[in-house]
Amino acid sequence: LIAGITHELNNPLAAISGYAQLLQMTEGLDPQVRQDVTRIHEQAQRAARIVRNLLTFAREHTSMRKPTDIHQLLQQTLELQAYQLRVENISVELRLAPEPLAVLGDPHQLQQVFFNLITNARDAMTGASDGGRLTIWTERIGEMVQVHVADTGPGLSADVRRHLFEPFFTTKEVGKGTGLGLSICFGIVSDHGGRIWAKEDTIAGAEFIIALPYTYEIPERSA
Ligand code: ADP
Repeated sequence: LIAGITHELNNPLAAISGYAQLLQMTEGLDPQVRQDVTRIHEQAQRAARIVRNLLTFAREHTSMRKPTDIHQLLQQTLELQAYQLRVENISVELRLAPEPLAVLGDPHQLQQVFFNLITNARDAMTGASDGGRLTIWTERIGEMVQVHVADTGPGLSADVRRHLFEPFFTTKEVGKGTGLGLSICFGIVSDHGGRIWAKEDTIAGAEFIIALPYTYEIPERSA
């Protein structure tokens, strides 16, 4: 149902964005009208982002399970964000457990989890005078693999903690957050038989922990 609805919504949204862009290119447009058209374009794009996120929920049912190298996945995800992190002067520390850590999972979905957490950490530190520091580390605890994602941003207030994983809960400015990032993470991690939570007693900043069942199966090496 969700996949069907999001598909139906994509076409009108593309039309709204497209026509708004065309209008923006019109010469001699009244500045007030131009500003309104820009808003229409921005909000149509925002709606398109929400639709894309919803599709992820819908696709969860068809997710695959294969032995996945968590360290490789973290490195790849960091590479995707490397440019933005550098531009925002955020230093990155990656401390990987000495042994390879694999889980049975869907690499694309797990990558999305890490991507969302890194994006949130980045957003939390944007504008910090020293840029901030993103620390990611892994460990094996018994039969679980744990991934920690910590930042030096303002951290999580008690109020934010209460709603963290609720869909559409966001404290970001209109147009920036959709409030779906962490609820998607929650859905994916739960679906993998794991747990995600925010550490309670951080001294500074926020720390998210993901625990996923360890697998002894050996992942295929991907490029
Ligand atoms: P979004 O990023 O679109 O706001 P999320 O579900 O990913 O949606 O996050 C919900 C809210 O949780 C954020 O708006 C923010 O208030 C809070 N949050 C998430 N991660 C962090 C973090 N690393 N530091 C501070 N606040 C955070």
